[in-house]
Amino acid sequence: MNAPAIYSLKGKRVFVAGHRGMAGSAIVRRLEREDCEILSIERAALDLRRQGDVEAWFAAHRPHAVFLAAGTVGGIMANATRPAEFLTDNLLIELNTIETAYRSGVEKLLFLGSSCIYPKFAAQPIREEELLTGALEPTNEPYAIAKIAGVKLCETYRRQYGSDFISAMPTNLFGPGDSYAPGSAHVLPALIDRAHKAKIEALSELVVWGSGTPRREFLYVDDLADACVFLMQRYSGPEHLNVGFGDDIAIADLAAMIANIVGFEGRIVLDPTKPDGTPRKLLDTGRLAAMGWRPKVDFSEGLSRAYRWYLDNVA
Ligand code: GDP
Repeated sequence: MNAPAIYSLKGKRVFVAGHRGMAGSAIVRRLEREDCEILSIERAALDLRRQGDVEAWFAAHRPHAVFLAAGTVGGIMANATRPAEFLTDNLLIELNTIETAYRSGVEKLLFLGSSCIYPKFAAQPIREEELLTGALEPTNEPYAIAKIAGVKLCETYRRQYGSDFISAMPTNLFGPGDSYAPGSAHVLPALIDRAHKAKIEALSELVVWGSGTPRREFLYVDDLADACVFLMQRYSGPEHLNVGFGDDIAIADLAAMIANIVGFEGRIVLDPTKPDGTPRKLLDTGRLAAMGWRPKVDFSEGLSRAYRWYLDNVA
């Protein structure tokens, strides 16, 4: 049974920060089924890193609720080559948006973090309590520190000012709107893109970075969006909540599944000169499950949908 609804979006002005991103655009799609007014703004028109601009925009549009899905994101290489941007952009966006939401009397805010906030060697599946119990994975430490700051902003604004600000920690996401830029993409879109090109160019090999043994959990982004709306309506509390799929897969097995869906029939070869990153990060989603929420999109179905989106929008 679902936890009771405690916050209604009906008739509310709901700001989705980061509506062009994969998570934000899925939240917009999901909110279209709610009786609310969706507010969004292009990055060129409002840079969330500029406090004065954020304050002016909130004063003009007065949102009741905010989904904070904006941020600088990327895969293991983007994190390694642009660490200062990952730290600074995310800190500025969170601080400006959360502080301004508080000052302008926003009723409810949901901050989206990331499963990389947890220690590199956290006990698996990772429970919410693992936060700050050990050293972070070095390949994404700046991003993780910014996201931990976001969790703490929500927690402390609640404690000091009584703001109903909550945070959700999604696992690795995939689906429509994903970034396929070679070099900066996450593993799943990177492998879809490479397998597709290998097929088209009739190459004999699909290269997979690292040892192939790290395990990752993947959640279809429309499931994440559904969980965010669920939490907005039914959760209020200082603890951040994990949003996961409940199962993970080795990178080598993921590559084989993607090759199969794409129709690439050559060999899969490993490139051990590339970093593995954290060995495993499967989230424990017991708390969210106890509230009545579960993902709906099966993994291979999600992969097929992601590939179709790639064919229509990227390839
Ligand atoms: P992470 O979850 O923060 O480590 O980020 P990624 O999604 O970038 O990488 C996940 C795992 O997939 C790492 O072990 C990578 O080395 C591995 N991987 C294999 N092939 C690729 C690829 O083509 N691109 C990326 N980004 N990762 C890859």
